Amino acid sequence: PLLPGQLIDGRPVMLGVLGGGQLGRMFVHAAQALGYETVVLDPDRHSPAGRISHHFIEADYRDADALRELAARAAAITTEFENVPAEALAELARARPVAPAAGAVAIAQDRIREKAHFARCAERSGVAPAPYAVIESEADLADVPADLLPGILKTARLGYDGKGQARVATRGELAAAWRGMGGVACVLEQLLPLALECSVIVARGRDGQVVALPVQRNLHRGGILSVTEVYEGNVPRALASQAQAATVDIANQLGYVGVLCVEYFVLQDGRLVVNEMAPRPHNSGHYTVDACDASQFDLQVRTLAGLPLPQPRQHSAAIMLNLLGDLWFDAAGAPRTVPWPDVLALPGAHLHLYGKTEARRGRKMGHLTFTGPDAASVRERALAAAALLG
Ligand code: ADP
Ligand code: MG
Repeated sequence: PLLPGQLIDGRPVMLGVLGGGQLGRMFVHAAQALGYETVVLDPDRHSPAGRISHHFIEADYRDADALRELAARAAAITTEFENVPAEALAELARARPVAPAAGAVAIAQDRIREKAHFARCAERSGVAPAPYAVIESEADLADVPADLLPGILKTARLGYDGKGQARVATRGELAAAWRGMGGVACVLEQLLPLALECSVIVARGRDGQVVALPVQRNLHRGGILSVTEVYEGNVPRALASQAQAATVDIANQLGYVGVLCVEYFVLQDGRLVVNEMAPRPHNSGHYTVDACDASQFDLQVRTLAGLPLPQPRQHSAAIMLNLLGDLWFDAAGAPRTVPWPDVLALPGAHLHLYGKTEARRGRKMGHLTFTGPDAASVRERALAAAALLG
């Protein structure tokens, strides 16, 4: 293990992160709280994590010299960015412990391999992905079973926040959408009747010990996560246990080390369906910073450093509101001052801004978590905040 307070050549142990976004920033906060130093690699010199890290390497993820420098400075390396090239992680792993491993990240980056992994796990857990077909050629289009329409066509790689997706009702629309995506590898999923969406975060250590966080209930707007609610009864209890068990199994079967988030659908008939996974902390887990005795970022530090993983406990009910750049503009599109003092006057408000200097529509600028003794109190506070934010 890399112990807190341990010195290497007279300096505190340095932990490395590939990617400098808000997830990396919160990892840096957690690592620094334990006395570690940090090094962040990101192409953007104003990256949220880079600007608070002890050391920052401004470089492309594929820059061999920069990766060597990262490996030279860091005693162990993690990632916060789903689309970081898996080869970069593999390269780093030749020099240093890396978690999660390149192989697991490569599976999570490719919806075709991801769904195949879920389908294998479903034989044990009973939680299957949506019915789907792989589309890599014109011939695959012709072979699509009729019952997959209406469906959602998703690019196998590089999709996020609803990007790289198209809803298609007919074979004609499917063919047009696939060609419109440049004929890249895709999956077509049956469009399912959703009752709700939820996600589960687990942390798994090198020794195979695994802990699961509570089930998060998620609301999306425009393809982007908008609200996460976590309190007793947010999701029927039997489904919550089933989702946690399925997530633990997915991590175990990958031999995963680190923090993993798996997204689920609950269908109108009550069935649980597994959607996708992120090989890193997740936007839906931000409430853990304020509402749990170990956050998803604390767990990421612990799994990377080889520290103990006690079962986290949620001590407060929580609702998290994502703060998109849209809030920084009024209805006419003019810049506006967000009324933070009024928001912060509400009890149980925890404001997190990521230090991004430019607000843009749809850009994640921060989040606001309300904690309280029960679901009713956090709902009331979140509604009051939503009214203030407009
Ligand atoms: P992303 O990588 O953009 O998060 P997702 O696969 O999670 O991609 O899809 C984004 C959203 O689209 C989901 O959160 C859900 O609301 C909706 N969605 C995705 N797949 C389906 C499906 N098969 N049936 C119904 N809704 C879906
Ligand atoms: Mg998703």
